[in-house]
Amino acid sequence: MQQAVLVEDDPAMATVVEMTLRSAGFEVSSHTCGESGRRAVEQGGVDLVVLDLGLPDVDGLEVCRRVRAASDVPVIVITARDTTADVVAGLEAGADDYLTKPFEAPELVARARALRRRASPRTGPLQVGPLLIDPLAHRVHKRGEELDLTVTEFRLLDELVRHGGQALSRQQLLELVWGHDHLGDSRVVDMAVLRLRGKVEDDPAEPRLVVTVRGVGYRLERP
Ligand code: CA
Repeated sequence: MQQAVLVEDDPAMATVVEMTLRSAGFEVSSHTCGESGRRAVEQGGVDLVVLDLGLPDVDGLEVCRRVRAASDVPVIVITARDTTADVVAGLEAGADDYLTKPFEAPELVARARALRRRASPRTGPLQVGPLLIDPLAHRVHKRGEELDLTVTEFRLLDELVRHGGQALSRQQLLELVWGHDHLGDSRVVDMAVLRLRGKVEDDPAEPRLVVTVRGVGYRLERP
């Protein structure tokens, strides 16, 4: 069974989210403060983190950063904050996706399912420029050195590789990696691309692998 860690201090909200995640096939470990949630993630074996940003002990953004520093687990942020700056701050802190309150349970289920680690049907490592990508092991090496990609960053790279040099729109990437197509959320794509570039590119300011296709989206350049 897949394990989810929920960090939410509002009991009514926590109950709803817990039931939602259980119905989606997750075993849920529920926490009302950030520190205990973070410790639960650090113990390992966690497949999904659902994190409220307004917490009593420590800001959810800080929890997100610390979870991200310790783990590649997908993180969905749930927040009453819905201004652009707040959403971007969440994504910058390493969140993979976000939902603003109030949200419908099926929406959370869809996003949780999409972000779960899934086995890749393609086998065998593949060389792309300086990168050696191993879909089965979920590992990427760059010139022999292993890169520390999150689950979402890996899947983003994997989809770009699968589409072999074809430009993919933000909407296509949202569907392929995040399992939804809300255009308003294309920020999650842009932020994930930024993070991925920071890890795979020699110079993230001048990307040679994950290139922007103006007016379309992104494509993998195969040198
Ligand atoms: Ca709260």
